[in-house]
Amino acid sequence: MYHLMKKTSNLPAALQRCFLSNAPKAAIPNPDIKYTELFINNEFVKATSGKTFKTLNPANGEIIAQVQKGNSVDVNNAVEAAQEAFKLGSPWRTMDASKRGVLLNKLADLMERDIVYLASLESLDNGKPYKVSLSHDVPGSINALRYYAGWADKNHGKVTPIDGNYFAYTRHEPVGVCGQIIPWNVPLLMLSWKFGPALAMGNTIVLKPAEQTPLTALYIANLVKEAGFPPGVINIVPGDGLITGKAIVDHLGVDKIAFTGSTEAGKLIAEGAAKTNLKRITLELGGKSPNIIFNDIDIDQAVQGAHYGLFYNMGQCCCAGSRTFVQESIYDEFVEKSAKLAEKRIVGNQFDPNTDQGPQVDQEQLTKILSLIESGKQQGAQLVTGGSRVGDKGYFVQPTVFANVKDDMKIAKEEIFGPVQQILKFKDFDEVISRANNTDYGLAAAVFSKNIDTVNKVVQSVRAGTVWVNCYNVFGAQVPFGGFKMSGLGREMGEYGLQPYTEVKTVIVTTPQKNN
Ligand code: NAP
Ligand code: MG
Repeated sequence: MYHLMKKTSNLPAALQRCFLSNAPKAAIPNPDIKYTELFINNEFVKATSGKTFKTLNPANGEIIAQVQKGNSVDVNNAVEAAQEAFKLGSPWRTMDASKRGVLLNKLADLMERDIVYLASLESLDNGKPYKVSLSHDVPGSINALRYYAGWADKNHGKVTPIDGNYFAYTRHEPVGVCGQIIPWNVPLLMLSWKFGPALAMGNTIVLKPAEQTPLTALYIANLVKEAGFPPGVINIVPGDGLITGKAIVDHLGVDKIAFTGSTEAGKLIAEGAAKTNLKRITLELGGKSPNIIFNDIDIDQAVQGAHYGLFYNMGQCCCAGSRTFVQESIYDEFVEKSAKLAEKRIVGNQFDPNTDQGPQVDQEQLTKILSLIESGKQQGAQLVTGGSRVGDKGYFVQPTVFANVKDDMKIAKEEIFGPVQQILKFKDFDEVISRANNTDYGLAAAVFSKNIDTVNKVVQSVRAGTVWVNCYNVFGAQVPFGGFKMSGLGREMGEYGLQPYTEVKTVIVTTPQKNN
């Protein structure tokens, strides 16, 4: 992710800084699969059921590895390990806060050391171009850990002038055992976004990676041990959402759930967390984000911005700009240029350095995307380019552009999570704002305009957790991310991202006399 308006050779300074300048850059197209077992109490163990599941290479549908499949017994073992690690007097609870920061930095160092292996493994399992894993996913993950390493000894309470002869202060304490359930679109990045604040604040973790992409999380488990985290602080249990994920959500020993994925699963998680022990929850869910292009812009810049806003990561982004609203006087030119750009996109194997777009993650996503494309055609949208599967092996989809899309069409309402751009026409400001906000989602939005009044009005009017101005898909460890409305609950990253992992304890001490 990060600044997608630029090519990797021209990365922003913040991202360049986290690169090892002398790191070997060539991919390992067939990385050794070293870890396929559950990670509990700093040990790799088999699933108690003896069951496994397969993870595939999305470029050809072939099996990469069989991975141990955790169930509720395994989740219970992991939660018990996390509870033990969280006990008062444990090595983790008695560790200096600054030392937690040192451990997080050590983990980031090890990821930097193994960046080529990690980027290769991520690309093999997920299908994303290796050059993107190497330049965005792994460095972004390292950045997130380093950012929160700095916070480990800085998130502290306050002394408060309470009335009366008392001395009052607050302590910022960890919440406890955190269940973390992550998706397959940016697996390593999501792991780091969840690990960073949880560990900085002194919590312990039971994480479930998505079934499609468990491999980088298991490799990180090995690095966790090498870095020197005490046993039980981080546990990783791959498996099924409805079994393993649900067991984490329902477990009475889990104090908090952090989830990223679909709104549908997010609702089930909120329900499960409430019904059991009222776990704290943070949810980062879906979106149908509006990207509003006014006619005063540099059209080529806006076409590029909208293109990256949608096609990045094969369109598999919760914040994808999947409703591109374009003002009518520039609409036809914008559509034509967008189609030309989409046609230039090179679709192919994730390890080919020329590839811009790899396969979708699995057959289910491929089927869903093709069926939504079909619905677009049937409901009368104009298919300008693309619209079909590429080849018959792997899960590749042609970069697709629809014009004359109407707000009530399925492709304008549902999250497609694929390389399918919807371009809608608008006349004026009030109309476009009301249409942009007419959705259950509110994750992100963007505006392209050179008029500062227009920009400011959009920023204030649009109901979304992030608004990009004349750019798209710019992320930073320092800034919060999350959604309004049904796009989620709470915020991750930045200072705000510490709050969901913090319990505030008020301490009131009687004093002999008031001294202010
Ligand atoms: P999903 O079902 O929401 O899965 C995300 C994670 O949650 C996975 O680890 C999944 O496990 C787990 N999970 C699913 N149901 C659960 C439950 N009831 N309790 C606990 N954990 C549960 O997403 P998906 O099925 O992979 O993709 C479906 C759609 O979700 C996509 O087409 C896309 O629209 C959206 N999506 C959004 C994001 C995002 O970043 N916001 C990411 C991915 C997908 P398993 O899948 O391993 O069973
Ligand atoms: Mg896979």
